[in-house]
Amino acid sequence: MNYFYAPPEQWNGEQSVEIIGQEAQHILKVLRYNVGDTIHIANGRGRIYECKIESVAKQLLTATIGTFIEEEAPKIAKVLALGVIKIRDRFEFAIEKAVELGATEICIFNADHTQRTKINEGRLNLLILSAFKQSGRFWLPDLVIKDSLDEVYSHYKNHSNIMAHEKTTITDRTSGLIKDSVLFVGPEGGFSERELKLHSQNGGEFISLGKNRLRAETAVTALLSQYLFS
Ligand code: SAH
Repeated sequence: MNYFYAPPEQWNGEQSVEIIGQEAQHILKVLRYNVGDTIHIANGRGRIYECKIESVAKQLLTATIGTFIEEEAPKIAKVLALGVIKIRDRFEFAIEKAVELGATEICIFNADHTQRTKINEGRLNLLILSAFKQSGRFWLPDLVIKDSLDEVYSHYKNHSNIMAHEKTTITDRTSGLIKDSVLFVGPEGGFSERELKLHSQNGGEFISLGKNRLRAETAVTALLSQYLFS
């Protein structure tokens, strides 16, 4: 099923919902929906509603809210914590795949070896939204931005921390995730000695993804496909 998305502030109780801006323009101009047509709108919080277009204006569509289908909230958090990758295409690929593979939250942080670069939060949120719709998810993953690995640990207290690291030989931790977890992948330059130590100090585990050195975005897909499906 194809559906659109409206953020919380665009829902008027249980009566009507508004879609604005580019999303509205896409529905009306490109897909050529009109007053009276039925569309599906996700709230990103577990529900997809069947809605009927009530009125249209330039870049604004109002629809009445009908029945919904829903999916329970994920029982445990599965956060991807990814060091910012400088090459934008690779960074965006990694984030898109994390959404498809079911990460409940995506935390990006400036790692010690991240080459400082400007993060376009709006663009990343659009990318996450588009992957959310494309992959048919009910719960929209949040984007969390932190300035260092230290801040990531303070933000996710009481999670189990699993870090992909090319210099460990431990590969047999395929028992799945039994509690809220953060899965860490480093940037192009990998994690610094300081960060590896910090991870151990926070009770974190290291996991190998095989003997080959993977690019960060490959490591994201390899790590998440092991843990999120198991
Ligand atoms: N430090 C390396 C490569 C970093 S690769 C260097 O520059 O030589 C980027 C990230 O991908 C790493 O920080 C790690 O999280 C992950 N990664 C890459 N290959 C891996 C492997 N074989 N096993 C586990 N993690 C790996």
